Amino acid sequence: MGESHAGGKSKTSKRPVKWIIVTGGVLSGLGKGVAAAAIGQLLAPKYRVIPVKCDGYLNVDPGTMNPIEHGEVFVLDDGGEVDMDFGHYERFLKVTCSFEWNLTMGKVYERIREKERKGDYLGKTVQLIPHVTEFIKDWWKTIAKDEKADVMLLEVGGTVGDIENELYIEAARQLNQEVGRENIMYVHLTYVPKPEHVNEHKTKPTQQSVGMLRHRGILPEIILARCHEPLAEKEQKKIAIFADVKPDRVFSAQDVESIYEIPINFAEQGMLTIINEELGLNGLKQDSAWKKSVDRLTADHLKRITIAIAGKYTRLEDSYASIIEALHHCEAAFNVGIDLKWLETSEEHDLAKDMEGVHGVIVPGGFGSRGVEGKIATVKYCRENDIPFLGICYGLQMAIIEFARNICSLKDANSTEVKKVKHPVVDILPEQKQVTKKGGTMRLGAYPAVLKKGTAIHKLYGKDEVSERHRHRYEVNPEYHEILEKHGMVFSGVSPDGTLVEFIENPKLKYFVATQAHPELKSSLLKPAPLFYGLIKACVKK
Ligand code: GLN
Repeated sequence: MGESHAGGKSKTSKRPVKWIIVTGGVLSGLGKGVAAAAIGQLLAPKYRVIPVKCDGYLNVDPGTMNPIEHGEVFVLDDGGEVDMDFGHYERFLKVTCSFEWNLTMGKVYERIREKERKGDYLGKTVQLIPHVTEFIKDWWKTIAKDEKADVMLLEVGGTVGDIENELYIEAARQLNQEVGRENIMYVHLTYVPKPEHVNEHKTKPTQQSVGMLRHRGILPEIILARCHEPLAEKEQKKIAIFADVKPDRVFSAQDVESIYEIPINFAEQGMLTIINEELGLNGLKQDSAWKKSVDRLTADHLKRITIAIAGKYTRLEDSYASIIEALHHCEAAFNVGIDLKWLETSEEHDLAKDMEGVHGVIVPGGFGSRGVEGKIATVKYCRENDIPFLGICYGLQMAIIEFARNICSLKDANSTEVKKVKHPVVDILPEQKQVTKKGGTMRLGAYPAVLKKGTAIHKLYGKDEVSERHRHRYEVNPEYHEILEKHGMVFSGVSPDGTLVEFIENPKLKYFVATQAHPELKSSLLKPAPLFYGLIKACVKK
């Protein structure tokens, strides 16, 4: 537990670790992770903030869950498959997270059962309280110590009252006694609706959810009120009375155009002063480069472009959260508005008609055979019409299949993930052949690649070796490397031993690149992922 991937030391001298516990109420899906990340963003320039997310489900990690149900699976450098909130944490806190920072009840119980079998609890009845809560608290404290954290930013998943999260809430309550009131702050995110027929914010759900938290022994110091528009003073005061906090501790977390505005909103409402009052974290000021980028991002863009995303989970944008964020980062970089067009590839449609007004195309990651032919047709359309194209993971594999079929004349070319064919141009990785278990067994995490000088991709990265994150089981079949290259496909980046194709491009076209990796996972507001940057640059030029 607690292997450090973040590097660096505590930014301040020895003082007790400060704990910020973020809980949620009323509804799920209010953006608790983003709100927590926004608080962290304000602290991160001066303090070493370590985010921890506690999920109640019994899966060990979200790696085996359907993205439509759970949103994107975020992958870390260390290969950990974690909750998508870690995407917000990395983007807002500029910290490289570790698999250990995502607790799930699946992980907790798995380890407790191991301990019990080993005899660690010999003679005892192992109980939810105290054994599981002690175990959870130890886990948090180990991270704090190993990471030399100044601030532990701890998000409890779900909403107060969910049975599956009770043990985290109980552990968070107990922590108060152990670390001292001056070292811990509880933040509760709730929902304040404004029903159409009454036309004022209704605070009852917030009152009740704070009540539920109090019933569990937690008295929040800050209320983040998710609302459509900022609360009126009278509404703020009403929540303050019921929540037993001063009115300046009730923050409006209103809908915003861009999530990157949230730290600025919080700071404008006095969050920095309150964090200082509560935890003695002083000398905080807003990050001016961040503010500048946010201004560019939210400006009225004179120029707008349309990017089509061809996938099979297009019904839920959360499935492609990091891709959408990487595009937002480019909006700020280029001062351009990007409209998204979703192409559901598992349904029949008129491609030429769909492509009207589209400036560039992304074929994102994916699994299984559904929607594959639609993706291949989309790639073909881009190649034939010289439309800027970025293929990500499965998107690279689709580009290889399309090229093999239509340029190398390997008519039935396909991936063995889809079907058995005469020309399996995409095939299972050798080390994956023996794998039988599904959880955490893909080629996961950061791997280096060596880039070929003179290629478009080398120019975009501006270096010879890069590291990006991966999550896949298949690769470009080495038996077909020669024929693909002979017909003009350029392997712009390969694994250091030269065996694995990591980046490709078609130099005959304006911008036609793809990667086996997921570069969207490392994109940030101030530093957009190079391949996304290249895509938008090509579209803007067009
Ligand atoms: N299904 C493909 C593979 O496993 C691609 C995975 C992905 O797009 N993340 O190789």
